[in-house]
Amino acid sequence: MTLEGKMLIGHEAASGSSKPIHAVNPATGERLEPTYVGGTRPEVERACELAEAAFTTYRETTLEARAAFLETAASEIEAIGDELIERAIAETGLPRARLEGERGRTCGQLRLFASVVRAGEWLDLRLDPALPEREPMPRADLRQRHIPLGPVAVFGASNFPLAFSVAGGDTASALAAGCPVIVKGHSAHPGTSELVGRAVQRAVEKRDLPEGTFSLLFGSGSEIGQALVADPRIQAVGFTGSRGGGTALMKTAQARPQPIPVYAEMSSINPVFLLPEALRARGAKIAEGFVASLNMGAGQFCTNPGLVIAVKGPELSAFVEAAGDAVKASAAQTMLTPGIHAAYEQGVGRLSSNDKVREVARGQVGESAHPCQAGLYVTAAGDFLADTELQEEVFGATSLVIECADLEEVKRVAGELEGQLTATLQMDDGDLDAAKALLPILERKAGRILANGWPTGVEVCHAMVHGGPYPATSDSRTTSVGSAAIFRFLRPVCYQALPQGLLPEVLRDGNPWGVARLVDGKREA
Ligand code: NAP
Repeated sequence: MTLEGKMLIGHEAASGSSKPIHAVNPATGERLEPTYVGGTRPEVERACELAEAAFTTYRETTLEARAAFLETAASEIEAIGDELIERAIAETGLPRARLEGERGRTCGQLRLFASVVRAGEWLDLRLDPALPEREPMPRADLRQRHIPLGPVAVFGASNFPLAFSVAGGDTASALAAGCPVIVKGHSAHPGTSELVGRAVQRAVEKRDLPEGTFSLLFGSGSEIGQALVADPRIQAVGFTGSRGGGTALMKTAQARPQPIPVYAEMSSINPVFLLPEALRARGAKIAEGFVASLNMGAGQFCTNPGLVIAVKGPELSAFVEAAGDAVKASAAQTMLTPGIHAAYEQGVGRLSSNDKVREVARGQVGESAHPCQAGLYVTAAGDFLADTELQEEVFGATSLVIECADLEEVKRVAGELEGQLTATLQMDDGDLDAAKALLPILERKAGRILANGWPTGVEVCHAMVHGGPYPATSDSRTTSVGSAAIFRFLRPVCYQALPQGLLPEVLRDGNPWGVARLVDGKREA
């Protein structure tokens, strides 16, 4: 397909009038065609108008129609073929295998949501029949279902050009909930975004859905991104990116005459706790796994293990030495954008210039235009606790080891951490008591707690939580990965004493949709 450098507004392809955007191949610095002329307020206005108009029809689609749409979107993305992978490689510098895997995950995610939609449990149907004879007060007939919030603005992430971008988890879960979506594409991969956007647009047409079900805009975040979030027709926001960007959008959403939820996934350093028995028994093996996780995707994962916490001693020294050797041997990988590379260099610079932090190792220097040179640093728990700057995310393959005097200090450090997406325990049987003492602290800090694994690699399934207290996300009650992500874009409505003919079909007597319901507190057979 020839890329046209256009935004997609409903069924149309449109050009804006703002500053031109060019993708850059981060490996070579080469400018990639075509030019994308981003949108301004008229395009935001048009996309919101269409989305609002589409909502009335789209939210009433049958479970089957909505599921089939998500499946069609997945098939259309697959049908693009190698062109999508080639363009994503050129725009992100990510390796082919990673992008092919990400495409599989993206399409799998759309299909997972299709199955979730069909099952209908997300409607969370509850029926409390009338109790007219109840004393002292009769009870009215009460029935509840979940309905979609309305049009949703999604900000595509730079670090997952497929799985967290135009048709990624936020878009899939919002569409599954019955919300039209307007994507603000990331400026780093507009071609990849256009290809995927056109696939979703084709699915909308093939399934005969209203055209405003999906739009894709390009342009400056502070202009069209802010305008989208401020638009009264937008009812929720999904975002993955920097803490600065996410908090700016949260402020805009809160300042609206009608504030709306922003589900922003922002910054996490994903502490790894090396408990004494595990460190003693298999420190070198743990070091190997740790550096492999650290280097994954040049460390540009929100779940990158940026912090290691353990009790100081010969076992920790051996671990640091082994991990340092592995870091030294790490080949440099191309980073996603010049901006992310510059931010990484700045973050590493902050660590290197801190006189309480010791550099253990740096990886190999790269040849590409924007290489990530891995790094490993060490500091003492007291110094870490005294300097909040050391908790800042360094987005890339760098990690900081915290040396603690004893397990009490490990707990103290855990207790002072900001909110995290994940917390990892490397533990053996003899560490159970130490782990039990940490668990209640970690539950208050992180959305996912792992034992003897690595936080990178987030399974898309029903039990996954990819979330956590601020600044990991803006709302710790939710997840942005997995089927539970749909609940971000729904709200409950209760219908009291409505006649059968007025009730939504799904709540009527006889369970006409055959969906699981809670009747008088009991699961309906
Ligand atoms: P970003 O700068 O936050 O940008 C993400 C998206 O938000 C872009 O579309 C951007 O628009 C928009 N945006 C940024 N600030 C905004 C604002 N004030 N108002 C409205 N929209 C705004 O993130 P990035 O470009 O992906 O990477 C920059 C840094 O973010 C990285 O170095 C890293 O530190 C962090 N990051 C973290 C994660 C994570 O999962 N933890 C993931 C990715 C990035 P523009 O087109 O105008 O830029």
